[in-house]
Amino acid sequence: MSNMTELQKKDLKYIFHPCAQMKDFESNPPLVIKKAEGLYLIDEHGKKYMDCISSWWVNLFGHCNPRINKVITEQINTLEHVIFANFAHEPAIELCEELEKVLPKGLNKFLFSDNGSSCIEMALKLSFQYHLQTGNPQKTKFISLQNAYHGETIGALGVGDVDIFTETYRPLIKEGRKVKVPYINENLTADEFKKYEDECFTDLENLVNENHHEIACMIVEPLVQGAAGMMMYSPNYLKRVRELTKKFNIHLIDDEIAMGFGRTGKMFACEHAGIEPDIMCIAKGLSSGYYPIAMVCITTEIFNAFYADYKEGKSFLHSHTYSGNPLGCRIALEILKIFREEQVLNTVNKKGAYLKKQAQKLFKDKPYIKEYRHIGLIGALELKDIAPGERIGRQIYEIALKKGVLIRPIGNIIYFMPPYVITEEEIDTLLKVCLDSIEEFISIKKINLKDTLKSDNKKRENLDSPF
Ligand SMILES: *Cc1c(COP(=O)(O)O)cnc(C)c1O
Repeated sequence: MSNMTELQKKDLKYIFHPCAQMKDFESNPPLVIKKAEGLYLIDEHGKKYMDCISSWWVNLFGHCNPRINKVITEQINTLEHVIFANFAHEPAIELCEELEKVLPKGLNKFLFSDNGSSCIEMALKLSFQYHLQTGNPQKTKFISLQNAYHGETIGALGVGDVDIFTETYRPLIKEGRKVKVPYINENLTADEFKKYEDECFTDLENLVNENHHEIACMIVEPLVQGAAGMMMYSPNYLKRVRELTKKFNIHLIDDEIAMGFGRTGKMFACEHAGIEPDIMCIAKGLSSGYYPIAMVCITTEIFNAFYADYKEGKSFLHSHTYSGNPLGCRIALEILKIFREEQVLNTVNKKGAYLKKQAQKLFKDKPYIKEYRHIGLIGALELKDIAPGERIGRQIYEIALKKGVLIRPIGNIIYFMPPYVITEEEIDTLLKVCLDSIEEFISIKKINLKDTLKSDNKKRENLDSPF
């Protein structure tokens, strides 16, 4: 307690932080960030940190971006909020018009919400109600992927599969069916991988063949399961999922909340599979952390199932006070404009390729690395179990933070997904700090790698430390 600042003491007095054990903060209090600029967060002592996780996966173009700051200031002085039932405004209308141009074909009607989880709730309710109103009231079940994460509200937890978030609340949850995922594994040959992918797909196919009459939708994180530890699976699987779901009148909900807006090198990750989902959820990058805004994008076909005389009772009754807030819409519009004007996807792919090349070079022969996973501007280092019973990722994260680099742990994994403004030089620093932090951990713990790695056959499970 003694070397905490006044603000830190007050923080611990009042605030119950998300996704954390408050007791941990007694020895390691939350950092109080005073301001931020570009890639950097600056704490109350003036110390700078490279924000290599885009502040919880949201930031695309750097903190306090001058272009965004300018439009938000203008918007604040024009219209800050208006009830969105029966009222509209230019930023919301223009945002939909611009989104339609960049979304996969067919997504052209939009609903607004203010966070990712609530737009997952909307997507699930929309799918159920669509079937109810088109003669299939028995379609009430959801399918999702093993290890999925779709948010932490009660409905979203039902389609999620990360135990640390779900376990406690099971009695409250409507559990969906979970299916196996063909994770990319570089140790498999092309033939072996194909066999594995077929197995996973057959698992789904059997479930659908037997139960399609009661399945409303299938929801996926496209290609990358973030909260599972940046687990990546094959685009071909997603393509087959799309074909199968279409055949059986099952909606495909594409949760692009984390992976949308260029993160994987395409505007939306589902484009790697060349598919068109029925419903897409977007948030995070949509407003880059400036304002809580999320959207559900649907097809005209789904929209039409709700379009009727008032008396028929087919309306979609789901509203949030902050639906369609003008500040959020104006920010999102500017972000789409930056994409158009600054060739952002090229930048992501170029910097991503550099990050991948450098990371592979640096970690290639390190005996403690189990796997390096990469797509777009996301990298994840999975470590072998070099210190059984220890929170390995967590401790490496803490060492890296002291060195001025913010990465994040999930169990034995540390990952980075920096804002797109990061430079090659900063990528070098990020990787060097990761390497140094891991080696410092090994040295502090006096780990004898030879002995420890002999018995490394533990499966990746018991993720102790989310995000
Ligand atoms: C963050 C996230 C959510 C939940 O969004 P919130 O705004 O945190 O409620 C849902 N799905 C995915 C894939 C996410 O990464």
